[in-house]
Amino acid sequence: MFSGIIASSGVAIGNAFVLKEVEIQISDGVLDKAEVEADIARFRQARDSTVEQLEAIRDKTADKLGEEEAEVFEGHILVATDEELEEEVVSAIRSLKPADAALNEAIAVNVSMLEELDDPYLRERVADIRDVGRRMLKNLLGIPVTSLEEVEEGSILIADDLTPSDTSQIDLEKVWGFVTNVGGRTSHSAIMARSLELPAIVGARVATDRIQSGDMIVLDAINNKVLVNPDASALDYYRTLREQLDEERIELAKLKDLPCETLDGKTFEVCANIGTVKDVEGAERHGAQGVGLYRTEFLFMDRTQMPSEEEQFEAYKSVAEAMGGRSVIIRTLDIGGDKELPYLDLPKELNPFLGWRAIRMCFDKPDILNTQLRAIFRASAFGRLKIMFPMVISVEEARRLRAIVADVKAGLGHEGVSFDDHVEIGIMVETPAAVMVADLLIEEVDFFSIGTNDLTQYVLAVDRGNEMIADLYNPMAPAVLRSIKRVIDCSHKAGKWTGMCGEMAGDERAALILAGLGLDEFSMSATSIPRVKKVLREQRFEALHKLADEVMNQPTTGDVQTALDAFVG
Ligand code: PEP
Ligand code: MG
Repeated sequence: MFSGIIASSGVAIGNAFVLKEVEIQISDGVLDKAEVEADIARFRQARDSTVEQLEAIRDKTADKLGEEEAEVFEGHILVATDEELEEEVVSAIRSLKPADAALNEAIAVNVSMLEELDDPYLRERVADIRDVGRRMLKNLLGIPVTSLEEVEEGSILIADDLTPSDTSQIDLEKVWGFVTNVGGRTSHSAIMARSLELPAIVGARVATDRIQSGDMIVLDAINNKVLVNPDASALDYYRTLREQLDEERIELAKLKDLPCETLDGKTFEVCANIGTVKDVEGAERHGAQGVGLYRTEFLFMDRTQMPSEEEQFEAYKSVAEAMGGRSVIIRTLDIGGDKELPYLDLPKELNPFLGWRAIRMCFDKPDILNTQLRAIFRASAFGRLKIMFPMVISVEEARRLRAIVADVKAGLGHEGVSFDDHVEIGIMVETPAAVMVADLLIEEVDFFSIGTNDLTQYVLAVDRGNEMIADLYNPMAPAVLRSIKRVIDCSHKAGKWTGMCGEMAGDERAALILAGLGLDEFSMSATSIPRVKKVLREQRFEALHKLADEVMNQPTTGDVQTALDAFVG
């Protein structure tokens, strides 16, 4: 048994399907003159099959996930059909290199040439060329390319990592969950798992070492456990648990249109965290009253250049329209930390989480923020948008952001572009500095949204992605709870509101305390909404308020848990 990081909750039982990269053996001989034309034909045939496969993947991705996600494969097709590449390969074959060696060399030459360039856009092409090159070589050598196609029904995918092209090929009828060695909660595969509602554990490090294809796997992405070939009693236990979860899901679905209201009539807003417009469907299905966090990073990832203002406008507008007048909080670009954008050429840093990330980078690259804000304001005419900024640490920053917003609005006004003049502007409270000056910061903004994923790591000085100290990473630690209380109190004192968009908001036990502290809005993965709604609907606010008071007086995280246990009964 081992664990990792829960990317998408649920329980799955199935047979392991281990995705391992095969070694490609390249021929080292010399061609006979008579073989030259045949090898050129073999190369062209392999290239054509590659293009056909990539077109199929592109179409499937566009169907399942939208044109935006499919774009990466357009780039791959361009690499495969590149005429210069063809010329290089053909000429090497004519000088008697076998087709596979000729292709391998041409790819290597292109890769090393691009790697030396200073242009980040071109350097990003390296990954594309490697990826497509491997596919062409496999086609040439008759090695099966998309082993994912061999997956049988009831499989749990086990991989070092899953690329966008892997995840886009997942057939939900056959794949019931996945475990990867690398990745964190915000990695591409984790986000995809959540939008596909597929149980998944990422960052498990040892998954491909400990598991062989065919092993029976229990993927417990509720308690963060991966069991390999469990005994009969464990299997029985998990089969029952899975059935209970299925039944519970049916029960919870009945709450969809009911308000999140305590027995004595106190209401809370429950919203969804989304990464793209495709997540809106899940948000609707689970009864989200709005979007409390739209992580715009995903629009900027898995591509080779910045999305234009127009492209961003279309994306934000489609979310605004899809939510049909319900509130959507768009978070400006939060890149850096563990989220990279290859085309931005971010420097390697010793402490990336304390480094040049989020608004810090945006202040230094004003075009990025301006373009994004223009796109958001233009989209604001089509729904009810709010804006929030990540990683704020001071009043100076909040004022500077407000000034930028004012400039953008003035610019759009001059151009005669219509936008909503009353878009609320908020900040994420995710640094201890913001907590300490929350009373001052709230004067500068319309609302707060507490980002407990980062706040926990910064308050406790515990890296949120480091498995070795995962037991220290706990948002229920008194230091974090006190921070949360302070933030909520400061906003209420100023007559404003506070939401939470960190994972803690979707934890049904934590929700009892947060509601008792008077948190106004809870934003979470859509799948968590029904359970949080259920637990709050079963309580009186008065009792939750008392619980929160009691919890705030506990000296240790263990005591907090004990007080909660006693309350839940
Ligand atoms: C957070 O830090 O709590 C948050 C919601 O932002 P992210 O997880 O994207 O850093
Ligand atoms: Mg954060």
